[in-house]
Amino acid sequence: MPKARKRAFRAETQKVLNILTHSLYTNREIFLRELLSNASDALDKLRFLQSKGEVVRDAGLPLEIRVSVDKEAGILEIADTGLGMTERELEENLGTIAKSGSEIFVRETEAAQTPPSGEGETEAAQTPPAGEGETEAEQTPPSGEGGGAPEPSSASRIIGRFGVGFYSVFMVAEEVEVISVPAQGGEGPHIWTSSGVDGFSVRALEETAGIARGTVVRAKLKEDAREFLETHRLQSVIRKHSNFLSFPIFLAAERVNTTPALWREPRFSLTREQYNEFYKYLTYDNTPPLEVIHLSVDAPVQFTALIFVPGSAQEFFGGQRDQWGLDLYARRVLIERANSELVPHYLAFLKGVADSEDLPLNISRETLQENVVLRKISQTIVRQVLDHLEKLAQSDRERYETFWKLHGKYFQFAFNDYLNRERVAALMRFPSSASDGGALTSLEDYIGRARPGQKTIWHLTASSPQAAGVHPHLERFRRKGLEVLYLLEGLSEFALEGLGSYKDYAFQSVEQADGKALDEFPDLADAAPAPTALSGDERASLDKLVARMRSILGDRVRDIQVSVRLTGNPAALVSPDGLNSSLEKLMRVMKKGENPPPRILEINPDHPLLRALLRIHTDDPENPLLPELVRTLFDNAQLLDGYLEDPQILAHRALAFMEKAVSWYLACAGARKGEGADPLDKE
Ligand code: ADP
Ligand code: MG
Repeated sequence: MPKARKRAFRAETQKVLNILTHSLYTNREIFLRELLSNASDALDKLRFLQSKGEVVRDAGLPLEIRVSVDKEAGILEIADTGLGMTERELEENLGTIAKSGSEIFVRETEAAQTPPSGEGETEAAQTPPAGEGETEAEQTPPSGEGGGAPEPSSASRIIGRFGVGFYSVFMVAEEVEVISVPAQGGEGPHIWTSSGVDGFSVRALEETAGIARGTVVRAKLKEDAREFLETHRLQSVIRKHSNFLSFPIFLAAERVNTTPALWREPRFSLTREQYNEFYKYLTYDNTPPLEVIHLSVDAPVQFTALIFVPGSAQEFFGGQRDQWGLDLYARRVLIERANSELVPHYLAFLKGVADSEDLPLNISRETLQENVVLRKISQTIVRQVLDHLEKLAQSDRERYETFWKLHGKYFQFAFNDYLNRERVAALMRFPSSASDGGALTSLEDYIGRARPGQKTIWHLTASSPQAAGVHPHLERFRRKGLEVLYLLEGLSEFALEGLGSYKDYAFQSVEQADGKALDEFPDLADAAPAPTALSGDERASLDKLVARMRSILGDRVRDIQVSVRLTGNPAALVSPDGLNSSLEKLMRVMKKGENPPPRILEINPDHPLLRALLRIHTDDPENPLLPELVRTLFDNAQLLDGYLEDPQILAHRALAFMEKAVSWYLACAGARKGEGADPLDKE
C-alpha cells in the first residue's frame, strides 16, 4: 500500500474544527448545502473546460451529483463527476479552511464561547432541537450580550450564520474520506482521510474505487447525526438549500431538484404560466401575481432577479414586521430566505429571488449587511421596479390602480428613499374631492387641476371617501373649488408629511389651512350665497355665548373659536399648534387609556343651529337646555372627526333629546288640535 502522508491542519483550521466538532449545531443540516455546492462548483469547472474544447477524462460521463447512504455502516456519500482533485490539491484545498469569513468566524465564536466553565457537553445538551432552518435567519446577532455568561447556543448560532465550507461536514461526521480522480493530468485516485481532530492524511489508491472521474465525500456519521441517513430528511434539506443547482442531484436513483431555476432562463423562453407556477411554488400563494419583473443585469454587478408583485394584499405590520425581502442566492445556492437588504421597506410586498455570481457563498449575515455588491443589486432592483410601475401606470391605469389598492399602504412610505422620492411621489394615488365616486387621482393630476395661485396640496383623513365628502372641514374648500385628497389611512398623513412637498406644492392638512390664505381664492360662481352677517349686537352676544360654552365644556376643549372655514356644519374640532387629528388618533392608540390633548372647537355662527343657540342664550342665559345642546354639539363634532371618547353618553343624550322633542311636539300638537288643525300635516 502506498505510504500515507500525515499532515497537521493549519492553526486557524484547527480552531474552526474544534468549534465545529464540539458544538451541537442547531442548523447543522447546512453541511449538505456546502458539500453539494462544492460538487456543483467542480462540475461547473469541468463544464467550462469542456466548453473550451479541453480534453478531460471520460468526456462522455454525465455531469451529475449522487447522494447515497449505507444505513448499516452509517455512511453518507456525496459523489460528483466534476473536476476532481490531484494529491496536491487534496492537501492544499482541504487542509485550509476557506479564507472568506473564517477569521471573523473564529473571533466571534471565541468571544461568545468564554463561559467560566465552558464545557461542550452542557452546551450541547441545552441547545434547542434542530428546527427549521428559517429560524436561523431571525436569530439576533450574538454581539452585545453584556457581561454575563453567554447564551449556551450562541456559538451554534454563529456557525449557523457562516458557511464554513467543507469543514462543516465535521459537525455530523466522526470520520471523513474524500476520494478524488482528477479530470486532467492523468493522476490516479487519491484518498484524503481525517477525523477532524488531529490533522489528515492523503495517500494514493491502487484501485479506482469505482470512481471514473470527480470526487466522492464519504462521511461516517456521528451517532446523533443519523437523521441524515433518512431519505426524507435528506430530500427536504436538499430541496431547501440546493434545489436550484444546475446539475441533477440524485438520491436513491431519484432526481431531487426538479424545479428549474427559472430566473436563470432567458425571458423570451418563458410563458406567463411558468412564471405563475414558479410564484406559487415560491410563496404558496394561490392568487397569481399581478406583475412579473424578470431582470438580468450585468453592470454594475452581475445578477439575475425574478420579482413578483403579488395579486393579493400582504401583511407586514404586526407579527412578522421584519420578514420581508427577496430570497438571496449565490450561484443558485440559497444564502438567505427573505433577505431584507435587497428591497427597502416600502417594497416589502415584493416576492421573488435574486441570484448573483458576484457574491461569495461563505458570507456571514453581518458581512451581508455591509456588502457593496448587495447594495448595488438592491439599488438596481428598486430602479427597475419603479420603472416597471411607471410604465404600468401609463399603459394600464386600471391595473395600476389594482396594484395601488393592494400595496399602496406600504408603498406610500417611500419618502425616506431620498434617491427616488420624486419618482415614488408620482406613483402615489388617492381618492379626492374631485370625484365623489372615490376614483383615484395622482399628484400630477391634482396639480393640473390646481386653482390659479394655489401652491398647496390639501388633504383630509377619513375612514372612507363618503365620510371625507361630508367632513365639516371640506366645506370651505368645496366652496372655493379647491381639491382635497382623501387619506383613508391614518398613516398616510405621516407619509405625506415625510414627503413634505410634491414639485412646488407643499402638503397640508385641511385642518391646518390658514383661513386668510384660503380667502385669497374667490368662491366659485355657483357657490351658495353667503348668509346674512351678524349685527353688531349679535356679535356682542356671540362673545357671551362663546364664554358660556367655554364654561360648559370646561377642559374638554382647549378653546372655542369662531370659525372662518365652516359653512354647512355648526361646529368642528381643530388642533392647536400643528397637531392633526390622525396624529392624535395614533397617539391614542399608542398610549391607551390616556386622554388626548384637548382641541379647539370651532363654531359656525352662520349656521341655523348656532343662531338658535344665540337666541336662547340671549333670552335666558340660564336656560337648562343650553348645556345639553352645547355638549351634544361637541359630541357631534367629535363623532364627525372620527373619534368619540364616550359614545354611550351621546346615545343617552340623543334619547333624552328625542323624548323632549316628542313631548314638545305632542304638547304643541295638543294645543293646535284645540285650534282644529292636525299638526302632522304641517311642517
Ligand atoms: P470554498 O468552496 O469556498 O472554496 P470549501 O471549504 O467548501 O471552500 O472547499 C475548499 C476547496 O476544496 C474548494 O475550493 C475546492 O477547490 C476543493 N473542493 C472541495 N470539494 C470539492 C469537490 N467535490 N470537487 C473538487 N474540489 C473540491
Ligand atoms: Mg465550498
